[in-house]
Amino acid sequence: MLEERIDNSAEFKEFAAGVARTGLSHAYLLLGADTCIRSMYIKKIASFLMCPERGCGECSVCEKIFADCHPDISIYNRDGKCRVEDAERMIADTYIKAWESRIKLYFFDNAETLQPVVQNKLLKICEEPPQNIAIFLLAGSDGALLNTILSRTKKIYLPVFTSEDIYKELVEEGYGKAEAETAAALSGGRFDKAYLYVKDEAYNKLYEACFDTLAKCKSSRDIPVYAGNNIFSKENLPLTLEIMEIILNDILRMVSKGGALQTCRKESLLKEIGNGFSAGGVAMAILALNKARRMLGSNVSAAGVADTILFEILEAKYKWR
Ligand SMILES: [Zn+2]
Repeated sequence: MLEERIDNSAEFKEFAAGVARTGLSHAYLLLGADTCIRSMYIKKIASFLMCPERGCGECSVCEKIFADCHPDISIYNRDGKCRVEDAERMIADTYIKAWESRIKLYFFDNAETLQPVVQNKLLKICEEPPQNIAIFLLAGSDGALLNTILSRTKKIYLPVFTSEDIYKELVEEGYGKAEAETAAALSGGRFDKAYLYVKDEAYNKLYEACFDTLAKCKSSRDIPVYAGNNIFSKENLPLTLEIMEIILNDILRMVSKGGALQTCRKESLLKEIGNGFSAGGVAMAILALNKARRMLGSNVSAAGVADTILFEILEAKYKWR
């Protein structure tokens, strides 16, 4: 399960070891784009710091944490609309003794959206924190955070997962294997995206159809047959291009023997599609997808874009042998 994957991640172990080694810092900045991992991390950190067993997952403390109702945990800015008054209320609260725990924890999600005036309020509390509190800012990137905040917080990175991890997690959670394969490949290593894809089987159909088209469209005579496919409709084309790029990038990895594949369990189909491609040829085919994106942007018809994609991918294969 996701909780265990986080427990086992090098990033979480490092956080835990850091706390054991030098104690808890007053202020942290947790960086990671995946909103699913961010929400789970809030719970994992809280249970690590508050549960007598360092996060058993079963005691009454852990139960409250996982049910989002522990009185000594406050989470702000989930909606990205934290106001100055909210920050002031939070600061006043830091001076009140904890209810049940020996420590109070304050989390600010989407910290990159905090206005400078709010960040300045938080800065004061980061500089002179009351006893027994810790503040965690969670953000997709640190670009919009004040330098003064950056210098007062301890930066840690959230774990990044492979598409294989995501595939296994989704199957463990009971999703179908085919849907899990699609969602994992399209997720770019993000659980928040994977959950969006896995819940809609239209993505799975499109994903399989892209593999099928690339595998079966073998000569220019086949182009008119496959160019009429629903994957090349105006609505589907942007995602079709994204999927074809994922497939071609994996073929490039196979041909040049480098890097973990982004697709899961599709090796034999990738071999079939990649058969006859040189590394240079695949690179040219990927460029053809970029050209197709530009064509879409300049209002070329979907049929015209489809012809170009299929023709140029075949051409890249035969010209660059
Ligand atoms: Zn516990």
